Amino acid sequence: MTNHADAQVHKIQAAVLRTKGGPLNIESLELEGPRDDEVLVRLVATGICRTDIHMCDHWDEGADPVVLGHEGAGVVAQAGKSVKGVRRGDRVVLSYQSCGRCRHCRRGHPPDCEHFYEANFGFRRLDGSNALHRSGVRGHFFGQSSFATHALATARNLVKVPKDLRLEVLAPLGCGLQTGAGTVMNSLKVASGSSIAIFGTGAVGLAAVMAARIVGADPIIGVDINPVRLELALELGATHAIDNSHEAVASRIAAITGGGVDYVLEITGNRKMYQLATEVLNPRGTVAIFTGATGTKSLPGGRKTLGIIEGDAVPQLFIPKLIALYQAGQFPFDRLVKFYDFSEINQAIADARRGETVKPVLRISEP
Ligand SMILES: [Zn+2]
Ligand SMILES: [Zn+2]
Repeated sequence: MTNHADAQVHKIQAAVLRTKGGPLNIESLELEGPRDDEVLVRLVATGICRTDIHMCDHWDEGADPVVLGHEGAGVVAQAGKSVKGVRRGDRVVLSYQSCGRCRHCRRGHPPDCEHFYEANFGFRRLDGSNALHRSGVRGHFFGQSSFATHALATARNLVKVPKDLRLEVLAPLGCGLQTGAGTVMNSLKVASGSSIAIFGTGAVGLAAVMAARIVGADPIIGVDINPVRLELALELGATHAIDNSHEAVASRIAAITGGGVDYVLEITGNRKMYQLATEVLNPRGTVAIFTGATGTKSLPGGRKTLGIIEGDAVPQLFIPKLIALYQAGQFPFDRLVKFYDFSEINQAIADARRGETVKPVLRISEP
């Protein structure tokens, strides 16, 4: 039972995409109150992930305007009647959405959810409704749409976090950092002493570098064209950095590993880099790719390609683990973050596009 009819309406501010490629405009909208199984979160901060920028650039002219954002962190303002374990005042980080009912969700692999696409990219609830309908704008991006002062989430994409940590720092755990670290720790289960190369040392790649150091991978090779990010990769645990703009990646990896690498994370999304990744693998090696589909594809020899979504992480298990590693000083992801005011959202996106900011985080309200 849900209480659609008598749901109250909240006035919110949200960054709305009405033009392909942006800019986003901060507008006043009306958001329905939470249904019985939903939680209204007052957002304190949100990260900007490369998927937000990709969506912005690939939004169809003529489609309904949308609110993006999927790395929210905030305080529970109101919890629906049937929501368990979360109450008003709790601090939470928001992550991706899943249905909770399909066989993959029930087996503990929500990134493989049969409804993953609709739940995260459908801009509606799974029943087809839209809590921003009065404003003619679509929300529910990744079950949140966090470029806003308030978002509706559910217990499935919300993770309670300790009160003594700054929410604005924790925001980016919900997607990019979880994906990078989860790929190393959950999807590939990289063992101590394995060799790994990371193509693209943005937020996902640097999270992977830190996770690779934690699990004892060696060597850890960062590949990028941005010298500042390569320098940061070395500081965070990479043993080698290769600048792809003027160095020969294949021969350097062959020399460092003595015959090919065990794992490559191909995060750039560039076809040539994927080809290169398959060429630098040793005969039992795996390339992880991030094209929005899971599954394995065999390559010549015993090599394979593995599709990754959200690092095969169950947010309620993995995000607390990353927070504990952060508190222990082993996962210093705050080094990647640069803060902006909510009103500076377009500047933050521009800086991320140029590679000047690794992980922009927007400050939305006081904790
Ligand atoms: Zn599911
Ligand atoms: Zn993301």
